[in-house]
Amino acid sequence: MSAVNTPDESHSAVASSAPDALPYFDVAVVGAGIHGAGVAQACAAAGWRTLLLEQYGEAALGTSSKSSKLIHGGLRYLENFEFSLVRECLLERELLLQNAADLVKLKTFLIPVYRSSKRSAFVIYCGLLLYKILTGWRASAIFKWRSASAAKQLYPQIEASNLVALLEYRDAQTDDRKLTEAVLRSAETFGAEVKFDFNLARAEVSGNQYLLYREGEDEPYASCRCLINAAGPWVNRVAEKVETKPAQIAVETVQGTHIILDLPAPPACIYCEAPQDGRPVFVLPWYGQTMVGTTEKLFSGDPADVAPSEEEEKYLLEVYNHCMNTAVVANASEEINESHIVERFAGLRVLPMAAGSANKRSRDTLFVECGLKASSANEMPGYLAIYGGKLTAYRKTAEKIQQRLRAVLGDNAGAVSTRDIRL
Ligand SMILES: Cc1cc2nc3c(=O)[nH]c(=O)nc-3n(C[C@H](O)[C@H](O)[C@H](O)COP(=O)(O)OP(=O)(O)OC[C@H]3O[C@@H](n4cnc5c(N)ncnc54)[C@H](O)[C@@H]3O)c2cc1C
Repeated sequence: MSAVNTPDESHSAVASSAPDALPYFDVAVVGAGIHGAGVAQACAAAGWRTLLLEQYGEAALGTSSKSSKLIHGGLRYLENFEFSLVRECLLERELLLQNAADLVKLKTFLIPVYRSSKRSAFVIYCGLLLYKILTGWRASAIFKWRSASAAKQLYPQIEASNLVALLEYRDAQTDDRKLTEAVLRSAETFGAEVKFDFNLARAEVSGNQYLLYREGEDEPYASCRCLINAAGPWVNRVAEKVETKPAQIAVETVQGTHIILDLPAPPACIYCEAPQDGRPVFVLPWYGQTMVGTTEKLFSGDPADVAPSEEEEKYLLEVYNHCMNTAVVANASEEINESHIVERFAGLRVLPMAAGSANKRSRDTLFVECGLKASSANEMPGYLAIYGGKLTAYRKTAEKIQQRLRAVLGDNAGAVSTRDIRL
């Protein structure tokens, strides 16, 4: 046993007992979802040797292909006073519209307001005004109030009985899986190594590095100075595999289901209020068909087993039939039923444990770290875990992590900011 195979002395002041010729990385990232891809991109662009490990054979098979696919500020988070989160997401939306123009598209969004709606048209109008202010009053933040009769003419696909008004605004939509794949390709062009079918079994301490073991193998695959846990709903399972026993945040995983219907795409992204409980549900265009989601159902099993339930599908069909004029959409005199579902999928939100509805919980991204303070940097390996977060803000999240790692890994001449990287 001898010193770790570390080309740059400044990265490993403490000698360790890792085997010779073991590949060394400044950063190893666990998980090829949007966060793992984003962190790998930011770290590789910073000039650090970066490794990304993914248990499955492809990227984005976890939550990052199961989202509502919106690149948005999150209008409804204004109700929870999450102004800084909404502003951050809106700014990221603007950046993505510029840097990923083929993948992220500005779309018209509609909010029909009925006599029975929980929020009045005036309250939503005020929310949209605030949304525009938080965007920095940009042209993309245009919004309009439509009377019920104007709405009926413009959007006959929307149910018009008891309609009071319709609010129209703009936000963006993407294909989450393609976006994740594009970020990962970008990470690779900056030199990141991506290893699929690599289930991280354990991260053992060796001096100020971790030795990374693949499930079923006795010898370590590589060593790293800093380990980033971007395992989404598996985050605490991965934390358990880390020898330094990092702190964990107590979380709940909340399942969200979407269904895809073999019906023509709606004319815009429609923000509906579920008649059953007033929750927001989107009816969205998706590759020429209609996607409806999402639900909120507590889930406590293995994240790999999450799947839509019949009850959730029924709930989503009820919302669709409540909001849409099926006679116009599908030439159908009867309600749309299960026979129209061509695809269904469920993903897991990671939310801090708290009382009350998941809908009301903060969507802020939380971090747990150790070994990243300048004072302890040379004594132990660095670890950082990501809890929760938004697809929309992945770049900002990765940038924050990259800044935290600087204390340990230092700066490199020629580092590139992800703000300037086109996808
Ligand atoms: C229903 C729903 C709708 C959403 N809608 C939106 C939206 O419209 N807009 C928005 O901005 N955000 C949305 N979000 C949030 C967003 O989708 C998530 O924040 C984001 O996808 C999480 O990405 P992630 O990389 O953290 O996790 P994941 O995508 O789950 O990736 C984690 C990866 O880690 C891998 N992994 C786990 N354990 C190991 C191991 N031991 N070894 C190797 N690899 C491992 C997994 O296989 C997986 O690929 C939504 C979330 C949900 C659940």
